[in-house]
Amino acid sequence: MDAVLVINADLGPLHRVTVQHAIRMLCRRVAEIHEAEPDQVIGIFPVPRVVRLVRYVVTRWRFSAGPAWSRAGVLRRDGRCCAYCGGPAGTIDHILPRSRGGRNSWRNTTAACYACNQRKGDRTPAEAGMPLRREPVVPSWASLAAR
Ligand SMILES: [Zn+2]
Repeated sequence: MDAVLVINADLGPLHRVTVQHAIRMLCRRVAEIHEAEPDQVIGIFPVPRVVRLVRYVVTRWRFSAGPAWSRAGVLRRDGRCCAYCGGPAGTIDHILPRSRGGRNSWRNTTAACYACNQRKGDRTPAEAGMPLRREPVVPSWASLAAR
């Protein structure tokens, strides 16, 4: 079992590492000793029990990128409303077309009706003269669940 607990700069526990790994962190000055074994040293360092990161690390669960992208999710986010004409949407449109490198992402896709989707084709909204009625955003989990 790894012996040393690593804690974040705000003292929140993160994970455990070996003593050797903890010493390397101390050498690189990414961590400082928070708690040490009494009367034991490795080289110039006391044997750490707990090391604290010098800089705060944002852990993955704290900055979830939001729900995974899906076609159904885009339609739900946009209330099945076409972003170009406001009519009922039956499909999704890639704002920067996929043929030109546009991705399946929340910010690059919007609900659209078939007619607008066809009319826009392989053009951007600016090229097609079809301004978006709303800015596509990354939805929160809550906003997707609520609709
Ligand atoms: Zn439309």
